[in-house]
Amino acid sequence: MQKNRPFPDVVTLSQQFVRIETENGHEDRMGNVIENLLKPFGFQFLRYELAPGRTNLFALWEPHNTAQLILFSGHMDTVPGYKVNKSDLAELKDNKIFGRGTCDMKGGIAAFIVASLQFIENFKKSMMELKKGILLGFTVDEEATCKGVDILQDSSEIMELFKRVSFCILAEPTMMGLYIAHKGINSYKVIFHGKAVHSSVPDQGKNAIYFAADYISKIREYFQELQEIQSPLGKPKLSVGTIQGGTATNIVPNQCELTIDRRYVPGEDPRVDEIRFKKMAEDIDQSVQFESLGVGWPYYLPEGEKNPIVQKLSSLLDNVPCSYMAAYTEADIYYRKYKIPTIILGPGGNQAHKTPEYVSIDQLHKAVEYYKRIINEFL
Ligand SMILES: [Zn+2]
Repeated sequence: MQKNRPFPDVVTLSQQFVRIETENGHEDRMGNVIENLLKPFGFQFLRYELAPGRTNLFALWEPHNTAQLILFSGHMDTVPGYKVNKSDLAELKDNKIFGRGTCDMKGGIAAFIVASLQFIENFKKSMMELKKGILLGFTVDEEATCKGVDILQDSSEIMELFKRVSFCILAEPTMMGLYIAHKGINSYKVIFHGKAVHSSVPDQGKNAIYFAADYISKIREYFQELQEIQSPLGKPKLSVGTIQGGTATNIVPNQCELTIDRRYVPGEDPRVDEIRFKKMAEDIDQSVQFESLGVGWPYYLPEGEKNPIVQKLSSLLDNVPCSYMAAYTEADIYYRKYKIPTIILGPGGNQAHKTPEYVSIDQLHKAVEYYKRIINEFL
């Protein structure tokens, strides 16, 4: 390995990442910086492109074939659509770094890179004593569709690596608490079709708004039924968000459109839910247009808090308690598609997706410390 390789500190590296604009795209700008940084430390790289400029990057450090790996993963894109002042400055103030992506989740990415490099730099034992290797994942398009991680099944090389991963640490912001579950999400668009006639003869037409009204009553009954379900993450949620229909008071409307938001708790099957919603709509109007706008499954780490990895991590990390994430994360895809048990553990908290977004320096240092303990323990 080379001498005099540039060694980043976690604050400077977080700032450098935040200054790279990856708002819902252009992740390669950041991936290239990461690749150049990791290369002198003996990492090998695997890439899988989602779209031009949007490449998932996996960096493997494994001086000899260790058979097993631990994976740290973070998404490089940031969430668009909310105002952030001066992200390009990644300003350091009051012991915090401000800007888009600071806590969600470039701070977390910087922390697991620095922890890995510190481990590699200080590793004095024989390489043959290593029990596991390190795999670092830098994914794309998490905030909009989670497609980055979802398409990895098409890369046989990455799938071969995933078979060797014991568990994954996903660096989404949890204030460095161990999060072992999250809710799932879906939304539906439903368009009812009626028959427009003059409102003086409504019996000759079909009122699409009435169809929608009947549907809403059914949905509210279904909601009550769902409240019987108990889970560590509370009860399932369901809400009609928008409704649009009709063109004039004196015309029986021929169309009415609804959108519905649905939040799943672990144990629910979104496919069963979708069939139910669709059938309820078709029972009212056979010509209904029904669309599921993108499902994210709920996630629950098998055995929950009793999972041996969680037990070990908890004692290793000052007995931090386990908790659950309200928002959807890639943990679902890592586990459901690739069978990788995933624990969500990252710096920063609920400053994600809003102004001002920031991550505190204390959290970044704590993240480096915790990730280093994990690497030391498992490698
Ligand atoms: Zn995130």
